[in-house]
Amino acid sequence: MNLISERNSNPTLHRSTTPKKVLISGASIAGPVLAYWLDQYGFEVTVVERSGEPRGGGYPIDVRGPALTVLKHMEILTEVRQQRIHTRRLSFVDDQGALIGALNMDDTEGEEQDVELPRGALTSLLYRQTLGTGVRYRFNDSIETLEQEDEGVSVTFRSGAPERFDLVIGADGMHSRTRELTFGPETDFSVYLGYCFNGFSLPNLLHLSHEAITHASPGRMAVQFAVRDSDSVHAFLVYAAEEPTFTRSPDLTVQRNLVTRLFEHEGWVVPQMLQALQNADDLYADVVAQIRMPAWSNGRVVLVGDAAYAPSFLTGQGTSLAVVGAYILAGELASHQDVQIAFVAYEEKMRPYVDANQTLVDGGSSLLVPRTAEALNARNQMLAGMGGEKSPPATEAQRRAYTALTLPEYRSRIRSTF
Ligand SMILES: Cc1cc2nc3c(=O)[nH]c(=O)nc-3n(C[C@H](O)[C@H](O)[C@H](O)COP(=O)(O)OP(=O)(O)OC[C@H]3O[C@@H](n4cnc5c(N)ncnc54)[C@H](O)[C@@H]3O)c2cc1C
Repeated sequence: MNLISERNSNPTLHRSTTPKKVLISGASIAGPVLAYWLDQYGFEVTVVERSGEPRGGGYPIDVRGPALTVLKHMEILTEVRQQRIHTRRLSFVDDQGALIGALNMDDTEGEEQDVELPRGALTSLLYRQTLGTGVRYRFNDSIETLEQEDEGVSVTFRSGAPERFDLVIGADGMHSRTRELTFGPETDFSVYLGYCFNGFSLPNLLHLSHEAITHASPGRMAVQFAVRDSDSVHAFLVYAAEEPTFTRSPDLTVQRNLVTRLFEHEGWVVPQMLQALQNADDLYADVVAQIRMPAWSNGRVVLVGDAAYAPSFLTGQGTSLAVVGAYILAGELASHQDVQIAFVAYEEKMRPYVDANQTLVDGGSSLLVPRTAEALNARNQMLAGMGGEKSPPATEAQRRAYTALTLPEYRSRIRSTF
């Protein structure tokens, strides 16, 4: 039973007297945004998350363009802006730690300004906005099997419980289980971009504050990123490799040894970083890859965020695509009684934005991780010539991609009480 009340009236919104029962897999960025809006539109929403709490992680992420407008509609933009990291500069150093060049970051405040904040700060705010609503969370659980039927999807959870839903939405990231169960193996959709990375935290031995320092040799990059003034920093070790060379083994010793071998001849403070790596309990290794799919839905299952169109961190646009995609998918589901029409409308609106941002990937890798000695020299000369000026504003291509979507307004909200 449901009591539906409207805040504003909008005849284009579908008013269902029996709200659709939706399962979302993943509670990081796309999942809670989607849950928030679907709940607002009167759907009955369950979110299943394999971790014990919303996915955190303090590495910095960017939110730009239409994604900021979505956060404004969710009434959290002010708090998101308060969490800004205020990174002051990105320095490039040589083997001895001497400065090659630095980019001073544009730290101006403004309505339109991009926001860089710790990922965990954003996921906490998004999660909080769904508390006290009709959204139900199942932490420490995940989808085990999915069976599509004419009018719904039968799901069994790892915890053993079976349940039937009208729709299942995969917001479970680049290595999405929902995608694998519905569309096939990840290898069919994952495009490896020629790099692998390792992220972990280490003590702030260089006393960094609001800044990042990076060291590169051909095809190798080491970074320390101080989000604000904390006692620890985020370390990234990125390397070029023809084929992915890392292990998903839960035994982190295997990965630690692999990375140590790859970086053992590097200069700067990389030897200390490798020592810290031996004790790091939060080591996270993965490929740098994009997810490219010909279609994001199949029957009554649809994907959103990294699960459908991860652009890779080289573009810095994964978060914005996840936020905007979730908002549009929810809005289209609320606007069309027929879910197939909603899925088509979601793809039509999102696809050009996704394509524009996925093509940004080339620029990012050549600046941060030049593959050859020639490319590295050219980059270093360019940096030295800049004399510590302000970081150049986004390129024309980046600006075009960041704004390659006019956010639809689905402002009429239908609340339901269950
Ligand atoms: C090191 C690094 C740096 C990055 N830097 C940036 C940046 O600067 N700017 C930027 O915009 N983006 C950046 N990104 C990318 C950004 O984090 C992602 O694009 C964004 O988080 C996508 O959100 P999502 O909700 O789609 O997926 P994810 O954040 O990957 O979340 C997926 C969620 O699903 C859960 N899950 C996974 N499998 C299951 C399952 N079987 N069952 C239930 N739950 C499951 C996970 O625990 C997680 O909570 C970076 C990513 C990394 C790894």
